[in-house]
Amino acid sequence: MSEKKYIIAMDQGTTSSRAILFNKQGEIKSVVQREFRQIFPQPGWVEHDPMEIWSTQMGVTMEAMQRLDAKPEEIAAIGITNQRETTILWETATGRPIYNAIVWQCRRTSDMIEEMKNAGWTERIRDKTGLVPDAYFSASKIAWIFDHVPGSRERARRGEIKFGTVDSWLIWNLTNGAVHATDYTNASRTMLFDIKNLCWDDEILEYFDIPREILPEVHPSSYVYGTTEKFGGNIPVAGVAGDQQAALFGQCGFEPGGVKSTYGTGGFMLMNTGDNKIVSKKGLLTTLAASGGERPQYALEGSVFIAGAAIQWLRDEMRMIRSSPQSETYCNAVEDSNGMYIVPAFSGMGAPYWQQYARGTIVGLTRGVSKDHFVRATVESLAYQTNDLLAAMKDESGLSLSVLKVDGGASANNFLMQFQSDISDVRIERPSCIETTALGAAYLAGLAIGYWRDTDEVRQNWLCGKVFEPVIEPEKRKKLLKGWEKAVKCAIYFALEEEDEGE
Ligand code: ADP
Repeated sequence: MSEKKYIIAMDQGTTSSRAILFNKQGEIKSVVQREFRQIFPQPGWVEHDPMEIWSTQMGVTMEAMQRLDAKPEEIAAIGITNQRETTILWETATGRPIYNAIVWQCRRTSDMIEEMKNAGWTERIRDKTGLVPDAYFSASKIAWIFDHVPGSRERARRGEIKFGTVDSWLIWNLTNGAVHATDYTNASRTMLFDIKNLCWDDEILEYFDIPREILPEVHPSSYVYGTTEKFGGNIPVAGVAGDQQAALFGQCGFEPGGVKSTYGTGGFMLMNTGDNKIVSKKGLLTTLAASGGERPQYALEGSVFIAGAAIQWLRDEMRMIRSSPQSETYCNAVEDSNGMYIVPAFSGMGAPYWQQYARGTIVGLTRGVSKDHFVRATVESLAYQTNDLLAAMKDESGLSLSVLKVDGGASANNFLMQFQSDISDVRIERPSCIETTALGAAYLAGLAIGYWRDTDEVRQNWLCGKVFEPVIEPEKRKKLLKGWEKAVKCAIYFALEEEDEGE
C-alpha cells in the first residue's frame, strides 16, 4: 500500500475555488485556483451557480493532484473550508439546486431583517446565536427562496429539499448524496443555530417558517464526515470549517487568547475565548471556533469593511500608486502622516462603532501634506481600525493579549505590520505560510484521521516568517491614537448631520 503523503484542502472562496495539497510539514506541494462567475441580477443582489462551485472545486482538485502525479492512495484525507453564510437549497432526489446560491454579500433580505428587529427579536437572536440580526446570515436567505420558488416550502416539509452552506453542498456531492452534514462553525453562521446548546433552534426556524427536515446534521470540525470515490479510491472527508475559523486554526489559535487578524479586501479578527461564550456589548459577534476535539470552542469576531480595499482605492480611483505593494515605498519616504488622518468609512463603519451612514473622512490637512503622507495615512488607517477591534476584544474577553498573528494580502506590507505593532503595543508574528485558511482545513482533516497526532504536533509546523515588536514611545502612541479617535468622531458627526437632514 502506498504511503499517505498528502492532505488536500478544498478552499471554496467567494470569487474562486482552490485546492492545495499539503505535506506533513504543512508545506504547499501543489496549488490550483479557478475563478467562477459572480451573478448580479439586481443592484445589491449577489448569486453563484452551485453547479459551477462544484465543478470548479472538482476541477482544481483533480488538477492539483495531477500536477504532483498524486495517486488517490497517497491522499490521507480531504479538508473543506468555505465562504460562509452562502445559502444553497437542492432537491434530495436529484441533487439539483432549486435556486442559485444566495451569496453572503447579498442584501435582498434587508427588509425581512428590519421587520424582525422591529418585532423585538434583536436580543433573542444575540442570546441564542451570538449574532446581530442581518441579511448577511443564511436564515433570511433560505426564507426568501421558499417565498419565491413556488411549492418549495411544502416540498421541503415532505423531505424533498435539502439546505446547506457551501461545505454541506460539497460534502453531499463528494459522497453522492450519502451524507448531509455541516460543522459547528458553519452552522453558527446561519442565524438558526443555538451556540449554547449546540442545536438548531426551533423558535427561530418557526419565525422564518423553515421546515426542520431541510437541515444538515452538525458535527465537530475535525471529524470523518464520509468518504469520496470521486478521485478514485476511497478518500475520507475529515475536516470542515468556515474560512475565518479555519484561518484561526491554521494559525494555531487553539487556546483561549489566540488571535489572528486577516488583512484582505476587508479585515477579520477572531479571538479564541475557549469555553467562555462572551456576549459583546461593543458589537462584536460571538461565534463557534473550530477545535481538534468533540466540542467547539467559542470565539469573538470583528470585521472591518474596508482594509486592503482602501489600498485598491489609492491605486484605482486616486491613481497615487501603480500597485498595492508600492504603497510601502511611499509610507517609508516620510517620518509620519504629517498630522493627517484618513477614515475609509466608504460603506459605513463596523465594530465597534456600527455607524452605517458614516462616510470616508480626511482630516488634518495642512499645506505641507504630500502624496507620501496621503498614502501613509491610508495604510495607517488599516492599523487603526484593526486596533479598535483588538481593544474591544481585550476589553470584553478580559484576556491579555501578547501576540497577534497576521495573514492576508496586505499583511505582506512590513511598514503596516510595524505600525500595527507600535500603536497596538503588541508583538506581531507573520507566518511563513500565509495560506492559513487552507492550512487550517488540512489540519482539521489530518487530526481526525491521525495523520497528525495532536495539536502539539501541528504547532511544530507553524513557522514564523517575521516578527514585529513595538518600538514607539508610549507618549507618541497616545497622541496618534487620540488623533484617530477625533478623526472617527468627524466621520460619525458627518453621518449624524446627513440623518438630520433626512428628517
Ligand atoms: P481577499 O482574500 O479578500 O481577496 P487578499 O488576502 O488576497 O484578499 O489581499 C488582497 C488585498 O491586499 C488587496 O486589497 C490589496 O490591495 C492588498 N495588498 C496586497 N499587497 C499589499 C501590500 N504590499 N501593501 C498593502 N496592501 C496590499
